[in-house]
Amino acid sequence: MDFEMHYTEEQEKFRAEVSAWLDVNMPPEAVRPVDEGRKPPGLSDAAMSLRRRLGAKGWLCPLWPKEYGGGDLPVEQAVIIGEELDGRHAFLPYDLGVILIAPAIMVWGTDDQKRRFLPPILSGEILTWQVFTEPEAGTDLASLKLRADKEGDHYVLNGQKTFIGSDYRADWLYTLAVTDQNRPRHSNIGAFIVPANSPGVTISPMELIAGQNKNNIYYDNVRVSRDQLIGGEFDGWKVANSTLELEHGGASRMVEGHFVDLLLAYCRRATRNGQPLSKDPAVRDALVEIWMGAQVERLFNWRNYWMRTSKIPWSWEGCQTALFRKQSEPRVAHRVLDILGPYALTTDPKLQALRGEIENQQRMSIMSHPGGTPEAQKIVMARRIGIAKTRQKASAIV
Ligand SMILES: Cc1cc2nc3c(=O)[nH]c(=O)nc-3n(C[C@H](O)[C@H](O)[C@H](O)COP(=O)(O)OP(=O)(O)OC[C@H]3O[C@@H](n4cnc5c(N)ncnc54)[C@H](O)[C@@H]3O)c2cc1C
Repeated sequence: MDFEMHYTEEQEKFRAEVSAWLDVNMPPEAVRPVDEGRKPPGLSDAAMSLRRRLGAKGWLCPLWPKEYGGGDLPVEQAVIIGEELDGRHAFLPYDLGVILIAPAIMVWGTDDQKRRFLPPILSGEILTWQVFTEPEAGTDLASLKLRADKEGDHYVLNGQKTFIGSDYRADWLYTLAVTDQNRPRHSNIGAFIVPANSPGVTISPMELIAGQNKNNIYYDNVRVSRDQLIGGEFDGWKVANSTLELEHGGASRMVEGHFVDLLLAYCRRATRNGQPLSKDPAVRDALVEIWMGAQVERLFNWRNYWMRTSKIPWSWEGCQTALFRKQSEPRVAHRVLDILGPYALTTDPKLQALRGEIENQQRMSIMSHPGGTPEAQKIVMARRIGIAKTRQKASAIV
């Protein structure tokens, strides 16, 4: 199997077109910050502007049909757009609508809902958060308590969600709620698109040690109309699983991060006892281990992207990728600490390595909870491989 892309002359012309367009349309400030929790001034507006411009061109979601706000482009062109954005370290605002929520609406929404909800999401006009987790319902999501009580053609939502979204304000909240208190787990949940500015919604920021900041969300008698319910009144678990299927490693991209390249370059440049770090056998040993892990993860991602874009049914592949990444990030952090010692842990401009990239990686490496903990990935994988007490198939995705 050959996952490397070999571009034709025609495709290289398209790359030149994308590059020329980005020269004009990508604001210079829309560059990935070292630490998403501490964005430089001007970044947020610039990132929103880039997102809207990409969306208007159909390049935010190049593979989606034009009628829903996509670009209707072939896979190779979608990859080229991704590579060009990645090459410029482009930064886009936090939004789960494009990656996780639009696909679930495509599977479960009515034709009217697809026409109403997909174009604003896929053309970059609005931001959507995934609103699943509650203080007492994380890994065991089916035990969620937020109520959706039916009143005529509306539901009234009451309860709390936690660890949601980012500091980019959402327009829509894709919310799971219990639609019948008396039905059994898994068949008592509805999935709603709730406008974030609905009366009774309170969003209260949580500051985390790693990555984007999150929010608690309180629903206090929030009225949501029946036509905001995706799927049937009790289909929320299935709808959520179409999202989780992608979140648990399935929504992979062909483009990868730069951390290992930066680290290798740094170790070639930085010296200790008069010689480059990369000449020290112990450092070389650590770097090879880190590099091999990055290559394995890259191949897992490429395989998943290929399977998804070729519509090849999958089973455990997404979880395998997520589990591998979640287990390897703390290992990488330990190896980096072996190499750099306390310099890996400081943001002091005089002492830090790689303008703080290293320190940020140390903190980010502990962030294994979003999108399912490693234990959750293991459980799902075991069920799908056939070594658990119960068997489970992959959920419907597009
Ligand atoms: C940075 C960040 C971003 C997030 N973003 C979102 C978001 O946008 N939207 C959203 O809805 N949620 C979000 N979450 C929440 C995330 O989905 C949950 O943190 C996750 O599902 C785990 O739930 P929990 O934190 O309640 O941990 P718990 O479920 O309480 O788990 C605690 C520990 O127990 C282990 N454990 C639990 N059950 C089992 C079991 N049956 N077998 C073995 N081990 C088990 C877990 O693996 C974990 O190590 C985010 C979380 C973080 C940290």
